[in-house]
Amino acid sequence: MKNSNQNKQKGNIALIAHDGKKADMVKFVMDHREVLSEFQLHATGTTGQKIAETGLTNIIRYNSGPYGGDAEIGTLVAKGKLDMVFFFRDPLGKHPHDPDIATLMRLCDVWEIPLATNKSTARHLLHNFTKK
Ligand code: PGA
Repeated sequence: MKNSNQNKQKGNIALIAHDGKKADMVKFVMDHREVLSEFQLHATGTTGQKIAETGLTNIIRYNSGPYGGDAEIGTLVAKGKLDMVFFFRDPLGKHPHDPDIATLMRLCDVWEIPLATNKSTARHLLHNFTKK
């Protein structure tokens, strides 16, 4: 953990993006900056670094995906710590940590945690969640 800013009120969101989707993630974060600043954000290493470069500080960074970051996020899902997972996947790429990614997605289904795999779904989830 690189940041202990854990008292955000609205909830906890994990943000992960494959390299081919990191630009999408940065744009998504900038477009929803105000609302995202009210959550505790969790991210894999490189995704978290890119998000931090947008100026958001409410982010806890874990290992980079290939070094176990997706597995760490999966653990948060299994422990009931996350309200939503936004994992912008690159459907055209193969990744060495695909097994970890499959596990994370499976855990979201096991625990019925909303999972968005692209920015359109993420936008809908975020709007719906913050309407409550
Ligand atoms: P990264 O990991 O944010 O460290 O690039 C994401 C992933 O590929 O799972």
